[in-house]
Amino acid sequence: STELMKGKRGLIMGLANDKSIAWGIAKACADAGAELAFSYQGEALKKRVVPLADQLGSDIVLECDVADQPSIDALFAALEEKWGKLDFIVHAIGFSDKNELRGRYVDTSPENFRMTMDISVYSFTAVARRAADLMTDGGSMLTLTYYGAEQVMPHYNVMGVAKAALEASVRYLAEDLGKDGIRVNSISAGPIKTLAASGIGDFRYILKWNELNSPLRRNVSIGDVGNSALYLLSDLGSGVTGETHHVDAGYHVVGMKAVDAPDI
Ligand code: NAD
Repeated sequence: STELMKGKRGLIMGLANDKSIAWGIAKACADAGAELAFSYQGEALKKRVVPLADQLGSDIVLECDVADQPSIDALFAALEEKWGKLDFIVHAIGFSDKNELRGRYVDTSPENFRMTMDISVYSFTAVARRAADLMTDGGSMLTLTYYGAEQVMPHYNVMGVAKAALEASVRYLAEDLGKDGIRVNSISAGPIKTLAASGIGDFRYILKWNELNSPLRRNVSIGDVGNSALYLLSDLGSGVTGETHHVDAGYHVVGMKAVDAPDI
């Protein structure tokens, strides 16, 4: 626990349960002294999110479905009323029809393509615009991406295309908002067993592959992602914007793993 985030107020979007990447990030920020607000999607998640927020000393828990623009407006109106200003936001939201997170990318339907792009890509831009209005002393924005944006990963399909667009939007947002002292970055997390990940075909195999082939020879935890998020969200990251920061045990640097017993 540090004083790194003392006096800073941030909104965490995308907390579903204590396996969520958003939870790892929220805990790291709260440990460092940040004051937090949470948004959740739909009544069913409220009963999970309220006690988790409470554990971190937060009683600001607001509903927001990012597919619905008026719902985003209402969230930021409520935050403006509560806090007036905002220092950081975390966008840990993605969605696609799980029937299309298996099989071939070429079979993606136009309806699911549009929905995936809307919820997983455009929502970050929509949120950034409203959050920027409240970041009157500058700020930091963070979203979550995956290596499937850069290279073809099994079953990631339309989500890979969406994450590529999300990473590009981080760069454009960084340029637009940089003049106001607002930084915009993403963390490219290695595979982690969460609710969203369980929709991806052969996920257990992907986890095992990453563990065996990454330089650190392990998978990352939501705690690992939380630590790196703290750097990007706090003043430690003051010179960093537009970046895709990999928190993946180094997996993305490996072209081919060395054979441990080199007598082939
Ligand atoms: P998760 O299921 O815990 O979180 C996903 C969240 O998205 C949920 O809280 C869900 O309610 C929210 N969401 C979906 N549609 C929404 C909507 N219309 N409005 C508001 N919220 C909505 O899973 P997670 O793995 O923690 O996912 C968080 C982010 O991390 C996602 O962007 C995901 O793509 C990304 N990511 C995950 C992994 C992984 O392996 N788990 C790796 C890299 C990146």
